[in-house]
Amino acid sequence: MSDFTATRALFDLPEGVVYLNGNSLGPLPRGCAERAQKVMQDEWGKDLIRAWNTAGWISLPRRVGDAIAGLIGAPEGSVATGDTLSIKVFQALAAALRMRPDRRVILSDSGNFPTDLYIAQGLMGLLDRGYELRTPAPEDVTDAITDEVAAVLLTQVDYRTGRMHDIAEVTRRAHAADAVMIWDLAHSAGAVPLHIGQSGAEFAVGCTYKYLNGGPGAPAFLYARPDIVKHVDPALAGWMGHEAPFAMDLTYRPHMSTERFRVGTPPVIQLAALEQALRVWDGVDMEALRAASITLSERFIAGVKKHCPALTLVSPRDPLVRGSQVSFAFAHGYAAMQALIARGVIGDFRAPDIMRFGFAPLYLTRDDIDRAVEILADVMARELWRDPQYQTRAAVT
Ligand SMILES: *Cc1c(COP(=O)(O)O)cnc(C)c1O
Repeated sequence: MSDFTATRALFDLPEGVVYLNGNSLGPLPRGCAERAQKVMQDEWGKDLIRAWNTAGWISLPRRVGDAIAGLIGAPEGSVATGDTLSIKVFQALAAALRMRPDRRVILSDSGNFPTDLYIAQGLMGLLDRGYELRTPAPEDVTDAITDEVAAVLLTQVDYRTGRMHDIAEVTRRAHAADAVMIWDLAHSAGAVPLHIGQSGAEFAVGCTYKYLNGGPGAPAFLYARPDIVKHVDPALAGWMGHEAPFAMDLTYRPHMSTERFRVGTPPVIQLAALEQALRVWDGVDMEALRAASITLSERFIAGVKKHCPALTLVSPRDPLVRGSQVSFAFAHGYAAMQALIARGVIGDFRAPDIMRFGFAPLYLTRDDIDRAVEILADVMARELWRDPQYQTRAAVT
């Protein structure tokens, strides 16, 4: 664990807070605010439009893509950045369906994050060709991969329970049925070691504001397997994905690399903040990070089990099939989470009754875990959640 003392110093966490929600919005790394300010004041402010060249704005998406590639086990040049994850899901799925024009089934699972399923439903309506979306239970999904399936669209780590799919095995099964494999790495990137290149999956997508700490609304990413990228349709034919955007051709001609999945003008300020945030990962060994995350989450589970009998673990007990988060069900989970947050321990709540806690060893220590358990035990033992002030739901839960 001592390896991470250095990374802890790279974050600006408020005094007295134990932050167990980096799985939803990572905290602010040091240097990001200064970087954003520099982009605005020096680059935008003084160089104006020249900054696209003078400050290297035009190459930012590619630089950030390469930094992300390193974290997901993908080769340089295989990751495009920009837009939001929902858009990247749309593009990957649309591309995948065109790769299997004779098939009509999209396979996901009932543990997937709603937006992934909504995007699939919207795309099916748009195409209007009789597509069917199947969402079996996560544990049944591998056996549901039949030769009717065009694309398998799965999120590796379940946002509610932390249950984790085996990327290598599921991808192997998808390919055995000649289906296209798309992985959503929203709760994986920066949380668990990834070998996307080795897996052979055609596509992977993810966001950067969770464990990658890029800040609210930070751009998403899309990986496309290098050997297929020249032949896949990026679905959204924007000028930034054109082979030569500034040739101003009247006809779309996609870029010969993953850059074809870019759409419009990149969000420069967010990308610059993200580029700075990704420096935190320099020298971080993902296997060591994973080991530390398991140590922290096991400590938390043991403490909660001992001191909070009213909470039921809904995450897998086996850390090897669990991502970097732990969830407990409790009928008054929303109010209990509000009471906990009011006492400086920040986790979150997911409907209908789940109290969710994320573990990011970059900035969390065992002492933080012990303190979180102690405060949670107090909230539960004294039923502090009964206080009326914790009952009203805010717009964001
Ligand atoms: C967080 C998350 C999203 C969010 O998508 P946005 O477009 O960034 O809002 C999508 N899918 C999964 C699986 C997620 O966990």
